[in-house]
Amino acid sequence: MRPRPLAHPGAFEPFDERDTVFARARLVPGTETYERYYERRPEHREADDKTRALKNLAAPGTRRYRPLEAALVEGEFSVSDLIAAAVERGSDLPPNATPEGLGMVGDVDADGPRHHLPDPSPPALTDAVKQAALFAGADDVGVTALDPGFVYSHRGRPRTAFGEPVSLGHGHAVVLAFAMRHGFVAAGPEMAATAEVARVYAKAASACFALADSLGRLGYDARAHVDSNYLVICTALAVRAGLGELGRNGILVHPVFGPGVRLGVVTVDAELVTDEEGCWGIAEFCRTCGKCAVNCPSRAIPEGEPAVVRGALKWPLDPARCYHYWRTAGTDCGVCIRSCPFGKPDTPLHRFVRRSISRTTAFNRFFLWADDRVYGARPGPSRPPLLDIGKIED
Ligand code: SF4
Ligand code: SF4
Repeated sequence: MRPRPLAHPGAFEPFDERDTVFARARLVPGTETYERYYERRPEHREADDKTRALKNLAAPGTRRYRPLEAALVEGEFSVSDLIAAAVERGSDLPPNATPEGLGMVGDVDADGPRHHLPDPSPPALTDAVKQAALFAGADDVGVTALDPGFVYSHRGRPRTAFGEPVSLGHGHAVVLAFAMRHGFVAAGPEMAATAEVARVYAKAASACFALADSLGRLGYDARAHVDSNYLVICTALAVRAGLGELGRNGILVHPVFGPGVRLGVVTVDAELVTDEEGCWGIAEFCRTCGKCAVNCPSRAIPEGEPAVVRGALKWPLDPARCYHYWRTAGTDCGVCIRSCPFGKPDTPLHRFVRRSISRTTAFNRFFLWADDRVYGARPGPSRPPLLDIGKIED
């Protein structure tokens, strides 16, 4: 049988970013914002209070703590945070303006764009935007129309913007995918894997910021959506932009890089040519597989069939369980990424298997059996290259 993608039954309903675990984790008990949020969402208060009482990621005393890797995690995330703050300060400025104090190269003509593409037609502009995204460091890029269901209804981050309604007039989204290095991904849930995640988020933030700024200089209103400063749901947009399929583990599974990718988005007011949503047999394979669910240390990933959540057919993850585990480990875990059969290096053998999975479901059980035999049904973390992280616990 030919594999089919997950079919969504209706329109996607916008999600409130305040309800994400990352926004909730930053609420400070005793503040008005905290009280108002839990009046609206009392069902989250008890579990969130327990998680908030734990040490933060990369903190000394957490279960997977390693000093060098922890410092790298914080150093890389501080780059993302700086860029996220720069996006914020620039977001209300007119296109082509250089936000004061951002340290960017100035000399922009206030009367209009400084640079003009010779052919601004949608196909040529789309080609230029994709080339620019790859030049900035993306490993893959796709374009989609900005479905309003993929824009947050209200902001949850940064804390200063908590509760602001989101208004985003852009018609298109450019989605950038950045591959993580396989050797580090395979080390999850150890801290070295989290350092790699942080490094790639910083790279994504830098690339998206540069792309949005470049588009501004060409006369288009654009905004970068980067770690801790998103107005849009990146994974849903990435699926729409043809970059992969939504896996059982709740993240994008790319046809080449598997789940080992991080995403960034640039939304823009320009007319662009959109990509088609793709099918590589990934979601169909997930129905048979379930390896991420079996290996998840917090049991946050369901083992059954997908269900409809806000108009989307997906496997409904329990993010609060997942995030609670992160805070005990001190890392962002990543066991579901490391154990995924699609996360293998891009060798001729793995390419052959992926090609077969994309064409027929007939051998899915065999491929899963083979993956279990070769890599283990419950694979442990491997030692990452370069960083000496000491003993890796099972
Ligand atoms: S990151 Fe870890 S805890 Fe979270 S869903 Fe994946 S395996 Fe489970
Ligand atoms: S581990 Fe299996 S079920 Fe989970 S995302 Fe990967 S292929 Fe899908």
